[in-house]
Amino acid sequence: MTAASQASRAENSLGKIWFVGAGPGDPELITVKGQKLLAQAGAVLFAGSLVDRAATMWAPEGCTIRDSKDMTLEEMTAWLIEQAAKHATVVRLQTGDPGLYGALIEMARPLVDAGIEWAVVPGVSSAMASMAAAGESMTLPEVTQTVILTRVEGRTPMPEGEDLASLAAHRTTICIFLSITLLHKVETALRAAGWPEDAPMLVVHKASWPGEQKILRGTLADIKARCREAGVASQAMIVASPTLGALHWETLVRSKLYDPTFTHRFRKASA
Ligand code: SAH
Repeated sequence: MTAASQASRAENSLGKIWFVGAGPGDPELITVKGQKLLAQAGAVLFAGSLVDRAATMWAPEGCTIRDSKDMTLEEMTAWLIEQAAKHATVVRLQTGDPGLYGALIEMARPLVDAGIEWAVVPGVSSAMASMAAAGESMTLPEVTQTVILTRVEGRTPMPEGEDLASLAAHRTTICIFLSITLLHKVETALRAAGWPEDAPMLVVHKASWPGEQKILRGTLADIKARCREAGVASQAMIVASPTLGALHWETLVRSKLYDPTFTHRFRKASA
């Protein structure tokens, strides 16, 4: 038991609820802190099919493990509160990072109302894992220094000013969550923002999953056909970025940090 969870039990005899980022799927991509919390958890509520392996791999024997896929938000918070009355450490395990499309605040508010301590352990987001899988960089000097994490409108409406066409006008790296079945909307938006037909695009299905990960490279013109051929229609990250494929470019602007002619706090210029 950690000092933090002991303290919370001493105060009100209720356990502490930890929202832990499980990472993108590979159970080894959870943080050390997340793994330690799972190892001492009395109960774990995990979100969907992507993170069950981390739960079963790191949780102790006798731990109550429950899948939340058939539960409403109210049922989930009720379950967590019930478990906090029995255990010092209760984990809500979520894919990637809990603060991205994770209903974090909606779940935390009833806990606050119930006087239960809670905290978040960040996780490796699937956006990061997808770029890592493809060996791509989100930023490149003088190409783009900005990353947009977004989605297209499905049942959840997009707030004003956040439609993909407006965001894409910035020509930055754009990681698009929850949108693989709406790829046609992504394409329409990128075209409306003036991205050319040969703009490189990347789709990664089940990033970091050993044996199941699929990396699809294409262009605005053909990425949809690539996905269809590969049978990718779920659990996928779409990336549009002017950095894609830079490994093979003839010319590349160097990063100033490692440039031999550039002096900074830790190194004097050598030339
Ligand atoms: N909190 C999560 C995102 C949850 S929303 C995170 O930080 O990654 C669910 C969406 O995330 C999916 O529709 C998909 O777009 C993306 N996703 C989650 N896991 C993924 C993975 N292993 N590979 C590719 N995309 C993934």
